[in-house]
Amino acid sequence: MAENVGDLPRIDPITGAEAEIRLVQPFQARKEYLCPRCLRAISAREAHYVVVPATSADLRRHWHKRCLAWELRHGSRNR
Ligand SMILES: [Zn+2]
Repeated sequence: MAENVGDLPRIDPITGAEAEIRLVQPFQARKEYLCPRCLRAISAREAHYVVVPATSADLRRHWHKRCLAWELRHGSRNR
């Protein structure tokens, strides 16, 4: 399981577009988000990733760390 952003492809697994992936630290996570892979909540104060498409930053999505790592490696959308 990737713990470092640098280990991950810089791709939005939903669109396949180039994206910036940022680690959101617990102190930065101020509210709940819905993870697009497992459709469960990412708790406030839980470290997670945010995927920011290079050309459309407003389409950013928040992911559980392991969900994004899995999706980038095995997701069917990414093939
Ligand atoms: Zn998830």
